[in-house]
Amino acid sequence: MIVAIDGPAAAGKGTLARKLADHYGFAHLDTGALYRAVASRVLRAGASPDDAAAAAREAEALTGTDLRASDLRTERVSDAASRVATVPGVRAALLEFQRTFARHPPEGRPGAVVEGRDIGTVVLPDADKKLFVTASAEVRAERRWRELAAGGAAVTLAEVLKSVVERDRRDQERAQSSLRMAAGAFLLDTTKLDIDAAFDAAKAFVSGQN
Ligand code: C5P
Repeated sequence: MIVAIDGPAAAGKGTLARKLADHYGFAHLDTGALYRAVASRVLRAGASPDDAAAAAREAEALTGTDLRASDLRTERVSDAASRVATVPGVRAALLEFQRTFARHPPEGRPGAVVEGRDIGTVVLPDADKKLFVTASAEVRAERRWRELAAGGAAVTLAEVLKSVVERDRRDQERAQSSLRMAAGAFLLDTTKLDIDAAFDAAKAFVSGQN
């Protein structure tokens, strides 16, 4: 059983994916973390995230250790991740890992929940269940800002909103694997839903009740 979850930045995909995976005993893959880890490597190497050759090189060299880098959730890496994600060589380097994870989940789990931007459209178009999770840009920015503020980051809500809108634009406008809702996906708008209500709706869809 493969559940594909796509949607824009900070829409609540991560929390939802983790909760669904826990509930069904499935493995969980946050594909955004792969792009973040590539971005983190590029920055560590002193290269620009807009340098396509450097980004593709770092994607090919990615290891499990990179996924534990301490800066993955920072605004600097968020911005760089959405830049390296526009490089076809980066996307190609990460594709097989994502497919293998979903088709042969670790620890013999009976399924996988894979979240990102292009999971239902490009990575796993044959997924059993597809969800598109979204919310207004303002609500997404506020959620992200609260998280950052709780972690002690000195950033204003206006700055976070600007960054969210910019990342959405880059994700929607890139030539390859742009962010869009897959055919047959269930649209879940969490603007007015708390996490429990969003989880209930997602669970009902995955279980085939709506
Ligand atoms: O989901 P998250 O915000 O962690 O993803 C970081 C960046 O990685 C996104 O802004 C997006 O540009 C990119 N991404 C992508 N395709 C995916 C997952 C993430 O392009 N499947």
